[in-house]
Amino acid sequence: MEIIILLGAPGAGKGTAAVRLVTRLGVKHVSSGDLLRQAVKQGTAAGKEAEGFMKRGELVPDALIGRIIADLLAAGGRDAKYLLDGFPRTVAQAEMLERVVTEQGGRIRATVMMDVDEAILIDRLAGRRVCPTCAAGYHVRNLPPKVTGVCDACGTALVQRPDDNPETVQNRLAVFNKQTAPLIAWYQARQTLVRVEGAAGSVDDVTERIVRALP
Ligand code: AMP
Repeated sequence: MEIIILLGAPGAGKGTAAVRLVTRLGVKHVSSGDLLRQAVKQGTAAGKEAEGFMKRGELVPDALIGRIIADLLAAGGRDAKYLLDGFPRTVAQAEMLERVVTEQGGRIRATVMMDVDEAILIDRLAGRRVCPTCAAGYHVRNLPPKVTGVCDACGTALVQRPDDNPETVQNRLAVFNKQTAPLIAWYQARQTLVRVEGAAGSVDDVTERIVRALP
């Protein structure tokens, strides 16, 4: 098992880059946020537990998301290559991931920290639109769909994520700084961290920068 982790604040462009990296690198994209939103939509027990935390822009409990990710990774087999987007988000999750990867005889190839200024993050989240069917992401100005308000990939009407409202965004950024940013030093100490400028240039430029930064 080989893992690449995309680390970055909400709005850093993890999901947008991930979609492109899947074809460039031949990896499976695992978005913890998408998995949780799907669980909420389907009304599963995990979804019911997660919903309130997500609405408030807080992290769901480590054990809840940890179980979902561990099951998924264990099911993929030893040769699988994953791109993790949104997981881990706490040191406890990173420790859990390390245990699972070690058990499977795998390795973390790289942790890519996507650096983006806070003012840009806020603008990106305010203009973000998503497809509720296939989870494709857009931005009203930076990455518009071909037809306004309609998903290029599947034709569904685009929506704004409920947690992309200004108050929840402030909370999510604070949560990132407090609970997730410590992972930068954590992975630096394990010598898997690479840092990439996540704002300059086009989406393709950022993707290219990530590919070049990988060991
Ligand atoms: P995202 O789509 O990655 O921005 O995630 C949306 C929301 O899902 C977050 O604000 C959290 O409430 C929850 N979430 C996603 N990934 C995690 C994680 N690794 N740990 C805890 N909560 C998560």
